[in-house]
Amino acid sequence: MISPIFADYHTHTVYSHGKGTVEENILAAIECGLCTIAIADHGPGQLAHGVKLSKIRAQIEEIARLKEKYKHKIQVLASLEADITGLDGTLDLPDSWQEKFDLVLGGYHRTAIPRKKSDLFRLQIPGLIAPDRVSQNMTSAVVHAIEGGRLFMVTHPGEYIPVDMQQVARAAALHDVYIEINNKHPMAQADLKIAAAQGVKFLLSSDAHHPKNVGRVDRALDAAMQAGIDKSRIVNLKKE
Ligand SMILES: [Zn+2]
Ligand SMILES: [Zn+2]
Repeated sequence: MISPIFADYHTHTVYSHGKGTVEENILAAIECGLCTIAIADHGPGQLAHGVKLSKIRAQIEEIARLKEKYKHKIQVLASLEADITGLDGTLDLPDSWQEKFDLVLGGYHRTAIPRKKSDLFRLQIPGLIAPDRVSQNMTSAVVHAIEGGRLFMVTHPGEYIPVDMQQVARAAALHDVYIEINNKHPMAQADLKIAAAQGVKFLLSSDAHHPKNVGRVDRALDAAMQAGIDKSRIVNLKKE
């Protein structure tokens, strides 16, 4: 398979719950014709499978070694899929650690543990408060994370907990943060159209948890085309 994108910014490895090693993901990326691959495992806020702070240093060192080894074949970036774990947009990794990565992606998953107890109730337990309220809180958290100036891309917005896409996309457009169209969880058509109307720029990514899925964005691309998104707005699509 030759990938329609030149850069896949969202791939997981055995450091979190992916099946391949960093090197296996890089080899798969070269195989499918990518120019850039980011290794983006879950941040430490994911208790079950996030990369613990104690392991992050080793991972960054491994990526640096492989970056050098494959520098004539592909650009390798150290990234992570941080979780937005605070209503104020706090990520699950201290700033001093975020600086060690080439790129920081931000998303949210139900299994991430919020920094503060109050955020636990407001962000993560939809059964206890009205779904609309949870969605408003999540929207505000994502917008604050975008405004924090650290994020390169928001991963799968609207997945797990719906957000007000207009507000999220408007903030992303204003702060030059990309919105991901994720191949495992493509955005709903209505959200894609709302995001596009805000003038946001999109990136397609595989969210591969196995090397064989690196560069695979067929479902994400289909969703984007169905929503009528102009290809010029998808920044990592190869030019025809
Ligand atoms: Zn994710
Ligand atoms: Zn992911």
